[in-house]
Amino acid sequence: MKTIAIIAHDGKKAEMVAFVKDHLEILKRYKLVATGSTGSHIEKTGLKVEKKNSGPLGGDAQIASDVVDGKVQAVIFLRDPLGNHPHDPDIFMLMRICDVHNIPLATNTATAYLIIKSLEE
Ligand code: PGA
Repeated sequence: MKTIAIIAHDGKKAEMVAFVKDHLEILKRYKLVATGSTGSHIEKTGLKVEKKNSGPLGGDAQIASDVVDGKVQAVIFLRDPLGNHPHDPDIFMLMRICDVHNIPLATNTATAYLIIKSLEE
């Protein structure tokens, strides 16, 4: 089963939950991993998800490590472009790691949809 990582900043969590609910049937076919609080929101939709630490406590870094290890086939990272984040270095690191390993990275729901459709099993 392919794995998708999902991360949403606080200002994007409502949009992330709406996206997950709109695409439950497709997302059920993937293993999901998420940063802590994002994962808790996903669980409320009924989907199973492996929860890492919360983003500011290293969750983005843990997901980056999974990308390095070849365990993640795509990353959906709904960043809040208007927010300040104490863990900006980790956020940039995760994006860089996706580029280093040529892993699809969606930063908005339009791209996220294209990715989950095209990876569909
Ligand atoms: P969270 O982390 O899902 O634990 O809120 C997301 C982030 O801010 O990177």
